[in-house]
Parts: sequence; C-alpha cells; structure tokens
Amino acid sequence: MVTAVKHVVILGAGFGGLELASRLSGSLADEVRVTLVDQNDGFTFGFSKLDILFGGEDAAAVRISYRELAKPGVEFRQERVTAIDPRVRHVTTDAGSYEADILVVALGAEYDIAATPGFAEGGLEYYSISGAERMRDALPGFDGGKVLIGVLGQPYKCPPAPFEGAFLLHDQFVERGIRDRTEIRVAAPMAAPVPVTPDVSQRFLDELEARGIEYLARTLVVELDPSSNEAVLEDGTRLPYDLFVGIPIHRVPAVVEESGLTENGWVTVDRGNLMTPFPDVYAVGDVVGIPMAKAGVFAENAAGVVADDIAARLRGEPLGRRYEGEGNCYIEFGSGRVAKIEANFLGGPAPTARVVGPSDELAGDKETFASTRRARWFGG
Ligand SMILES: Cc1cc2nc3c(=O)[nH]c(=O)nc-3n(C[C@H](O)[C@H](O)[C@H](O)COP(=O)(O)OP(=O)(O)OC[C@H]3O[C@@H](n4cnc5c(N)ncnc54)[C@H](O)[C@@H]3O)c2cc1C
Repeated sequence: MVTAVKHVVILGAGFGGLELASRLSGSLADEVRVTLVDQNDGFTFGFSKLDILFGGEDAAAVRISYRELAKPGVEFRQERVTAIDPRVRHVTTDAGSYEADILVVALGAEYDIAATPGFAEGGLEYYSISGAERMRDALPGFDGGKVLIGVLGQPYKCPPAPFEGAFLLHDQFVERGIRDRTEIRVAAPMAAPVPVTPDVSQRFLDELEARGIEYLARTLVVELDPSSNEAVLEDGTRLPYDLFVGIPIHRVPAVVEESGLTENGWVTVDRGNLMTPFPDVYAVGDVVGIPMAKAGVFAENAAGVVADDIAARLRGEPLGRRYEGEGNCYIEFGSGRVAKIEANFLGGPAPTARVVGPSDELAGDKETFASTRRARWFGG
C-alpha cells in the first residue's frame, strides 16, 4: 500500500527545529517531507554569545549558514513567519504560505528590552548577538566601579548564563588589574541561583563567594535611571551602578502570541509528547510553557520526542516514551574551566540535577557537543 508523504512544516531553525528536521530526515525520509522556515540566514549557538563577548570571536565566524544545510527531504526557506492558524495548520510568511499535515512551532523566545524602562539607554546585555558585540566593545571603557548584573524577569534562557557572565567578567577584571576596585553583584528574583535543586544553588553560591561576587536574592530590577546611574527595584529602593548588565525579560514572538497557542504567555503542550491542544500541532523549545529551565539541550530533547511521536503515529503505534525534560548543560566557570549540570525536570516526582566538574575533559566535551550538532543538523 502506498501512503501519501506527509508535509511537516517546522517553524524556527534553532536548537529544536534543526534537531527535529535532522531526526525526520534520518528516520522518516520516505514518509515525510520537511519545510524548515527561519527568518535568519544562519544558526548561532546560545553559548557562542559568551565567545563573542569574552573570547574575541567574530559573530560571523560563529554563525553556521543555513546554506550549508544538506539533509535529504528537508527544504530550508529563509522567510519570516507572519501568521499561524493552528486550527487548519496554515502558515503565512513574508514570502508565501504553507499548508502543513503536521506543524511544529519552534520559534524560541524573544527579548522585551522596552519592558524595562531605561534599560535600552542605560544598560548592556549579552543575550542577543548584537548585544554581546556592543558589550564587548563597551567593556574596555570600564575602568572599575560598581557592576550590577540584573535578571529582569523569569523565565529566562539558560539559568546558569547570568552567573557564567559574572564569573567571566570577574576573570576579565582580574586580568586587567581592576578587580580590586570593582564590586560585582548579581540581583535576581530567584531565592537562589539556578534553583533546580538546593545543592546546585549552593554550588553557585560557593563559586560566587569564592570570587567575592554578591548574590542579591529576590531582588527584581524594574527600571533603570540612566541620569543617576541607579537601578530601581520593585519596592522603589535604588541600587547605584557604573555598569549595568541585564538579562532581558523574555516573551514568545508576537506571531505566536497572536496565534492563540499561548496561555499565560507561553505555548501550552501535553508534557508527554509536546502536542498542543490543536491536533497535529506540536511545540518544542523555549516557546513552550512547561515549568522547567529553557535551554537548547531541552529543546533538542523535546524534538527527539516529537520525532518519535510522529513516527509512532504514522505507524499507528503508541509513543514508547514520555518527554522527561532532561539534558546536560555546560557551564563556563572561568579560567577556561567548564563544568556541566545534568538535569531531569519531569522524569520523577521532583526535578533532579547535579553539577559535574569543572574539568579539562568537560571543556573538550563542550567543543565536541557543538561539532556533533553541526554535523548532525547540517549534514553534507
Ligand atoms: C548567553 C546564552 C548562553 C546559553 N548557553 C546555553 C548552553 O550552554 N546550553 C544550552 O543548551 N542552551 C544555552 N542557551 C539557551 C539556548 O540558546 C536556547 O535555549 C535555545 O536556542 C532554544 O532553542 P529553540 O529551538 O527553542 O529556539 P532558538 O534556538 O532560539 O530558535 C528559534 C528560531 O526561530 C526563529 N524565529 C523567531 N521568530 C521567527 C519568525 N517570526 N519567523 C521566522 N523565524 C523566526 C529565530 O530566528 C530562531 O532561529 C544559552 C542562551 C544564551 C542567551
């Protein structure tokens, strides 16, 4: 019996979209054809922003062009998604439209810089590529004083990243001989850093303390006053700064918000197989509203589950596993040392996580992690 080839449309060629396209290309090449849509011309790993900021990397050098994508059965289209109708799986872009048999929303999270008044004028950030470039260029002009790193909202991508930024800033200031006249503080709404488990938080608190970096718990900066160089907290308290680095407020892209897929700001899915309430419409990655960390490794893992669910359903079989929200995230501890957090958010009654390392071996593993993804996703 000949079955019609299903058209899978994947919106977003980031961690989740690329992993899913490569899985479908590998395992279901005869049963599906994939259209992969992204507004950008290339993919950049989240952690490459730290390389741009501190490692002297050029943004163009760490971007992997989608032109390199050579996966059988996958067609890449550089277009901006302008409307999604999940009821009929119809997608409109700035260049055309698509009818999907199976639709996957993997459009990630955006930054709402304007949601924190004064941030655009008075602060720096390294969560975007252009922000990392601007901050890299601004840092040499800082000659010591008060550095305030503010986590401006939750959830945000890669829970350790504000602390990685603090460790690496510390290193840079030591190297430049200005650390002794520089105060570094991290202000965040969480009761403790990386609050997946108390042990993981304690490890971060210990690492911060060892470098003389203060953690201000349950401290939310809501506004910057660039005229006085003060950060304004929820209760009106003002914290002075000479250099403010913010982790911006995150939100889903507007096109997702307008699609009717969200509840409380994020896309609702079945935690087992990542399907939205709309039949044959899945969502993976940062765009999803599961209460767990947002990171590429989790987006990748979710994409694997969606690939398995699509295969199982095409064969009329049940999905043999559930999404567990597990993954290993590498952390820059400074001085070239890399550790990792092994986490599992949904597999048991409570999240489990532990910090491994740092070690030289893990620094090598992080490089292998990136190169294996590049080979798997882009093929050739
Ligand atoms: C500083 C920093 C360090 C990080 N370090 C790590 C780390 O060590 N490990 C880790 O696992 N994660 C890390 N992350 C997080 C990681 O980058 C993200 O969680 C991950 O990229 C999420 O994958 P995703 O597929 O959901 O979204 P993304 O990878 O963000 O992909 C979404 C894609 O959708 C596209 N898109 C959005 N809107 C539209 C539209 N309207 N039309 C067309 N295309 C659109 C975007 O161009 C983008 O390519 C880090 C993030 C930062 C900022």
